[in-house]
Amino acid sequence: MITCPNCKSKDLGKIGTTQYYCWNCFIELSIEQNIISVHQVEEDGSLSSLNDLFEEDQRRMG
Ligand SMILES: [Zn+2]
Repeated sequence: MITCPNCKSKDLGKIGTTQYYCWNCFIELSIEQNIISVHQVEEDGSLSSLNDLFEEDQRRMG
C-alpha cells in the first residue's frame, strides 16, 4: 500500500505502471526501486521535482 509522503493520504490514483497521483494534495508519485519520487505538475503540464522536500526515509516504501 502506497502512502503519499506529503500528506499521508492513501487516496492515490494509478496513472501508470509505476506512477500514482495523490488526489488529496495533487502531486504525482513515481516509484523506482522502492523509493518514491515526488513531482508537482505545473500549469503547463511539466513536472518539477519535490524530492528535496523529503528525507529519503520518508520516500522509502514499506
Ligand atoms: Zn498527498
